[in-house]
Amino acid sequence: MAMSGIEIFKLLPKTNCKKCGQPTCLAFAMKLAQRQVSIDACPDVSEESRQKLSDASTPPIRMVTFGVGDRAIKMGEETVLFRHEKKYYHPCAISVEIKDTMTDEEISKTVADILDSDIERVGQRLRIDAVFLNNTSNDKVRFRDVVKLVSEKASGLPLILSTDKPDIADEALKSVADTKPLLYGVTKDNLESMCDIAKRYKIPVGIIADGLEEMSQLTERLKAKGILDMVIDTKPRSAKEILTHNTLIRRAAIKKGMRSLGYPIITFAQRDDDVIETLIASLGIIKYSSILVLSNVRPYKNLALFTLRQNIYTDPQVPMQVEQKIYKIGEPTDTSPLIVTTNFSLTYFIVSGEIENSKVPTRLAILDCEGLSVLTAWAAGKFTASRIANFIKESGIENELSRKEVIIPGYVAMLSGAIEDKLPGWKVTVGPREANALPAFLKAWNG
Ligand code: SF4
Repeated sequence: MAMSGIEIFKLLPKTNCKKCGQPTCLAFAMKLAQRQVSIDACPDVSEESRQKLSDASTPPIRMVTFGVGDRAIKMGEETVLFRHEKKYYHPCAISVEIKDTMTDEEISKTVADILDSDIERVGQRLRIDAVFLNNTSNDKVRFRDVVKLVSEKASGLPLILSTDKPDIADEALKSVADTKPLLYGVTKDNLESMCDIAKRYKIPVGIIADGLEEMSQLTERLKAKGILDMVIDTKPRSAKEILTHNTLIRRAAIKKGMRSLGYPIITFAQRDDDVIETLIASLGIIKYSSILVLSNVRPYKNLALFTLRQNIYTDPQVPMQVEQKIYKIGEPTDTSPLIVTTNFSLTYFIVSGEIENSKVPTRLAILDCEGLSVLTAWAAGKFTASRIANFIKESGIENELSRKEVIIPGYVAMLSGAIEDKLPGWKVTVGPREANALPAFLKAWNG
């Protein structure tokens, strides 16, 4: 059960010594209750109290990892119901199902599509993270061979092995246990044997239960057997059930401190209709799924889900930003255009993308505005005539240009006169408001 700030306060030394960086013990207790600090920050707390408080400072959703190396997937460790309360830690992993009843050619094609799903958006690599290998054949040898085939074709791609047959799981794991796959398929009926396998291979497991109550009992049974790394599936399949189960699980873990439900959730989004599948998967991303299973790879589906996931899992307290400097796009000469804008990542990547589309070599001057977009930075007094003029002056860029002209975003047209006053000898041109108008603008400017 989570402790309140007052309950935590009673266990602290109450000396208000400030060694923890907080002004008082009460302030520290309140932060600890919100899981915004660690109990380790207080050097004077007694061992007995530290023990009692460890529960309050441990994330209510256990962190579980599967896969190894750069592509290893971390899930859980979440502490809040809503992202604006703090942030979400580990983005929902997206996996694609491969059934062992598919032909080897179909399997190879799906693996190639998964590996090819990698795209870059606002400086981050986004991709399908894992493969869900489903033993639909019920054939031990076929499953083992498919697991082997996929692990050879996609070395390093985290695997989820789905079977509720302990002997089939055991056989398949012999060749891939060192890649730390997730073994999905523990039920109340096979729990003992599957636990033995998970312990032997030191791998996390996925548990299937009929609803939250049964799940709560099963996770406690596994915990008693020394299995701590679990992913849970209470079998919601419709959109309504997914929303209800996932919300109840997250609330129970975070608000009620129910450790028995404090595990990452796996959600099955497969549908015959790709659009409906994308909607179901979106629901999982928004509402607490840690792994999604899709039926296939479709680039448009990837784009929608990757973008949504990136938006939901961006830390709202830390604007995404790029370094302040003058970026060269193409091979600009002394007569090439110079554009100035702010260092909000999305602004930078959209503007630079449109400049690339224009094929007009350009210098892009990115001013540090603490990651704010143009209008927000202007309203906050960070994208002002003085700051723009000083940046241009101090950059020394005028030595590289024969045409001293700077293009500013259309949204801050009102700054043009003031910038010209502060940059004698320079011409200020007002560019378009939206980046998608840049290619036509630059071609006209150049011609
Ligand atoms: Fe209180 Fe410990 Fe912080 Fe000192 S370091 S103010 S004793 S919580």
